[in-house]
Amino acid sequence: MAAPPAIPRRGLFIGGGWREPTLGRRIPVINPATEDTIGDIPAATAEDVELAVAAARSAFLLDGGSRWARASGATRAKYLNAIAAKIKEKISYLALLETVDSGKPKDEAVADMDDVAACFEYYAALAEALDGKQHAPISLPMEEFKTYVLKEPIGVVGLITPWNYPLLMATWKVAPALAAGCTAVLKPSELASLTCLELGAICEEIGLPSGVLNIITGLGPDAGAPIASHPHVDKIAFTGSTATGKTIMTAAAQMVKPVSLELGGKSPLVIFDDVADIDKAVEWAMFGCFFNGGQVCSATSRLLLHEKIAERFLDRLVEWAKNIKISDPLEEGCRLGSVISKGQYEKIKKFISTARSEGATILHGGDRPKNLGKGFFIEPTIITGVSTSMQIWREEVFGPVICVKVFKTESEAVELANDTHYGLAGGVISDDLERCERIAKVIHSGIVWINCSQPTLVQAPWGGNKRSGFGRELGEWGLENYLSVKQVTRYCKDELY
Ligand code: NAD
Repeated sequence: MAAPPAIPRRGLFIGGGWREPTLGRRIPVINPATEDTIGDIPAATAEDVELAVAAARSAFLLDGGSRWARASGATRAKYLNAIAAKIKEKISYLALLETVDSGKPKDEAVADMDDVAACFEYYAALAEALDGKQHAPISLPMEEFKTYVLKEPIGVVGLITPWNYPLLMATWKVAPALAAGCTAVLKPSELASLTCLELGAICEEIGLPSGVLNIITGLGPDAGAPIASHPHVDKIAFTGSTATGKTIMTAAAQMVKPVSLELGGKSPLVIFDDVADIDKAVEWAMFGCFFNGGQVCSATSRLLLHEKIAERFLDRLVEWAKNIKISDPLEEGCRLGSVISKGQYEKIKKFISTARSEGATILHGGDRPKNLGKGFFIEPTIITGVSTSMQIWREEVFGPVICVKVFKTESEAVELANDTHYGLAGGVISDDLERCERIAKVIHSGIVWINCSQPTLVQAPWGGNKRSGFGRELGEWGLENYLSVKQVTRYCKDELY
């Protein structure tokens, strides 16, 4: 088993340096796999947000060309690449911190850190490419006007992020925001902020100009809400629950402030009877719902099985679930760690007991694993006998719980897949590729996977429809989130050439 890492005692990262929160409060950090308190993080309040926004504002302002927004894309790329290099250098340490902070298996945390570094590198390249694209002429039918479009950084952005992929979710926002020339105030989740604070330390080490990235930790209503409603924050990018998304959107609306929202999901995975390799499909179904303890916004947590394969498929699924290694996430080979917190543990248990009381069958799991006395562990749980009115079908659990329904026809499968208020992702597994393409077109979601579940590519757009939010992260779309478009038109008929 890997040794737990030393937990640094950090302050808030504001204006390129560290400061204690104005009110001096701190929040304990609990390792969810052991229930031990392993450190603490600062609990920022509106006073600290004020300082962070002022620092970001001063780093952004165009006063003489030395500020971030005026720096060339190539210059910004240099800093982003330097951050990526430091992440790679510290990858083992950061992954261990993420593991003890979130309960996710160590190997998954290492993969997250790889993705973090890759994301900074990707947006470094886009920042560089932006140099040639910020001034785009538009062809007009008349000669007396000349028009071009300027793409400019939006300004100071507030980035509010969740705990399921703490540093990765922050990076999906920080990297494109900084690449675009924005300056930022990042507010990670109070349940897992350690690696985001280390990002502050990395920014300090590489000499990122002060105030370009400020990191404020603390509770949502105390530290997140003042960012959302701040008059000098020009945009909010939020990832988290649909409920908090609504609160943030309401606050932003008072200032007519743009928001992008990456919210919850209840994604379907449809599996047809023409699949030759059932084991492979079972593997995708398992990965799609139990990876990261099921605490994945796009988890394919509604499994739709064709009636002809349902029994065989479920036998294999249960077999697989029985053999998954559930342990302290620092242990070698761990595949299912603990969930994030006592609160989340209780919430998941409640979902399972409600499913049972509504008449569903707990085919496997549903409890704490017998061999683990402490920690917020839940067995991989497979629920059958589900009807579309049940809570387990309709609401996001955000834990290792999959619910299963059987279908007879393709149209029934599509109807069930779309029977949700959410619209983040969906998947279809079939050997008939025409069928897959047909279904990809009619699933109401921002992402569709064919013959797989969950691959996430930094180059491809990520985001949802309906109550899963709006706006897209990653790829070029992620950069556009932080750019505003300005039309410049010149009347030139009277000009002498
Ligand atoms: P959450 O909504 O509880 O918290 C998210 C962030 O918002 C945290 O930093 C929190 O402190 C902050 N916050 C809470 N109340 C606030 C307020 N009133 N004002 C401003 N900020 C506030 O979500 P969570 O429990 O951290 O994360 C889990 C949720 O995130 C799930 O619903 C999951 O589906 C969603 N998620 C979505 C995506 C996606 O890409 N769509 C990715 C990851 C997670």
